[in-house]
Amino acid sequence: EVSVYCYWNGCIKYGPEGVYYEGPAPKKIIVNPKIALNRLLDEMYVLTGVDVDKQRSKVKIFGRYPSVVGHSKFQYLLLPVVNNSSLETMLEVPSKHPSVKNVELYLEVKSEGVTGPAACSSKRQKTVKVERGSRTGNIGDAAVDADMTDNISGSNAVAQVVNLAGDGSNIPPLSLSSLWLDDHDLRVGLCFKDADELKKAVDWCSIKGLQKCVVRETQKGECMFECIKWRCKWSFGAAKMEKHGLFEIIKYTGPHTCRAIEPEKSDSEFEADEIERLVRRHPTLSFSELQNWWKANIGYALETWEVRAAKEEAIKRAFGDQSFEDLPKLMSAFQSSNGLLVDWKYDLFPNPKFASFCGVFWAFPQSVQGFQHCRPLILVDTKELSGKNQLNLMIASGVDADNVYLPLAFAVTKQVSSDSWRWFLTNIRKKVTQRKGLCLISSPHPDILSVINEPGSQWKEPWAYHRFCLTHLCSQFSRLFPDHHHHTEYLVMQAGSSTHKAEFDSYIKDIKEKSPEGWKWLDQIPPHQWALAHDSGLRYGVMKIDRKSLFEVCRRSFSKVAMTGGVMLLFSEMKDAFDVSFSCSRGSLHRGDVYTENVMRKFQESLIDSGAYVVTPLERDAFKVSGPSERKYKEYKECILELNDSTCTCGKFQRKRFPCLHALAVFQKMKINPLPYVDDCYFAESYYKTYEATFSPVPEMSAWPEASGVPTLFPP
Ligand SMILES: [Zn+2]
Ligand SMILES: [Zn+2]
Repeated sequence: EVSVYCYWNGCIKYGPEGVYYEGPAPKKIIVNPKIALNRLLDEMYVLTGVDVDKQRSKVKIFGRYPSVVGHSKFQYLLLPVVNNSSLETMLEVPSKHPSVKNVELYLEVKSEGVTGPAACSSKRQKTVKVERGSRTGNIGDAAVDADMTDNISGSNAVAQVVNLAGDGSNIPPLSLSSLWLDDHDLRVGLCFKDADELKKAVDWCSIKGLQKCVVRETQKGECMFECIKWRCKWSFGAAKMEKHGLFEIIKYTGPHTCRAIEPEKSDSEFEADEIERLVRRHPTLSFSELQNWWKANIGYALETWEVRAAKEEAIKRAFGDQSFEDLPKLMSAFQSSNGLLVDWKYDLFPNPKFASFCGVFWAFPQSVQGFQHCRPLILVDTKELSGKNQLNLMIASGVDADNVYLPLAFAVTKQVSSDSWRWFLTNIRKKVTQRKGLCLISSPHPDILSVINEPGSQWKEPWAYHRFCLTHLCSQFSRLFPDHHHHTEYLVMQAGSSTHKAEFDSYIKDIKEKSPEGWKWLDQIPPHQWALAHDSGLRYGVMKIDRKSLFEVCRRSFSKVAMTGGVMLLFSEMKDAFDVSFSCSRGSLHRGDVYTENVMRKFQESLIDSGAYVVTPLERDAFKVSGPSERKYKEYKECILELNDSTCTCGKFQRKRFPCLHALAVFQKMKINPLPYVDDCYFAESYYKTYEATFSPVPEMSAWPEASGVPTLFPP
């Protein structure tokens, strides 16, 4: 049994022996040392007449905790009793220190509207400061103290530390009672049994104050608490002190200089607010960089979609007014940090310091470098951007080893015309690639055709081979020759996708019967520009531009904000996409993969199908392959494969530059290594090299260089 002296209606003071209480004489109660805090509160109700149940949140209990400073000499500390564990620490005092006969508890009951004994608090804080000034109580020394505690054995202090730790581990963790702590109660000199108890108490006071804070364990036995709002000055440090083995607050800077988180605000609003602060300062941080920042500074993890939503919202708020003001600076920041390739188009005003925006072209050198390891194929397309300025986005893309689009160049223009196509395509030749023999896939729009066939164009043979996207061609066909069931459009699609000339011819015959006018139009277009059966492998089997995938990266960036904000988001998308693809490709290279995953899957699927084929070797490296095909063309049923020039009469081998079913059947049955017959562009090594270049961080907005040579731009 322990006798407890309860003090109330007075105030806590500090003297030469540490903390003491000034006020009416205490009342004594006898309790079991294992009593629960709730039971003790009941006892106190009887004792003091304070309706503890009603005012539970307003009752605070502090213990006067003795810390040994010499032989039978104590310095008394203030220990908040916030839960069963800290209560037990107090009630154990007489058994630990026989010279201390009683436990002293100080009660504070807040009356309505008054927060604690204010008169005392300012005085006692002053006293504390004087006292702390005379000793080396900074956090660095405290850490040394703590370390020494660990090393020295046999001293009183160590025994105490060990004891307390041992006791703590036997007590099941209890949730904090609603008893205690407001922000202004945290002060230098306050002691807690251990770091956990301190954290719980601070959590509770943060919840009550509608603030959020983050804890950093700076060193063993030492921690720092900071407000998560980046401009808020609130912080404090606590450390386990050698003298008494408790966690003592040794530095405190308060109160909060931020405003409280508004209670009606949801988490996502809070996140958007915080990310907006960061984004205004540092708008080019990628989603993964923001995620890392959040984890490090706020203390918990955000999902990618949460970061994306918050950043998009923040960019919209900060840069969403479609202004062109920041765009030249943004581009020059990308130029100086990442070597961005840029070209501007504008109409100068009479005063040449100002101009009206016409277009901007940009390409990242990372893509340019990566494209060298991709097949010689480029797809171009345009898309209208939403927003009042009615701008258009142009994109050029390559295809990587895993059959995924690699964005090469972008442009935003006032209008899409032969002029803008000339400008865009010329810039690609100047800044992105000078490769010869490129295959260019586009819509069959007359504006593009006229530019490509101009004298001096670098998009004509032998520099490049112009091919049409089959989807664009079909929709143009159905616009010109409407047919309610889209039946002829379907036939055009089938004709274009056939790999065999006989199959192509048969569809053309059908088209001629169904729509003689349509057939006439189609007949004007050289078949090698739109039909796979007439392609010599330049297209790598790529017949269509998948607009959804092609514009995916832009759709995400420009859906909420046009111009400056969209370009910022696009940078993050590119950076993160490169990171993801790079780690993917590195992984597959380390696993020893020869082909990319997509290609491997195709391989495996085809191997199963090709099992049923019968292979008959002919002379030289030719094979006859017959299979159980149900297609209507006998050419598919029985094919002649020539390994010498990688051709098959089915047409797929040479046109897709990838083994057809017949070739795979031959490789399998004849135990031939397929490697030499697969184009380099499908190799895991090419995939890896495509994404090898990394994006560099862009400095904070305040450090962006001025855009030299670009006038102040106004919307078109
Ligand atoms: Zn704060
Ligand atoms: Zn074949």
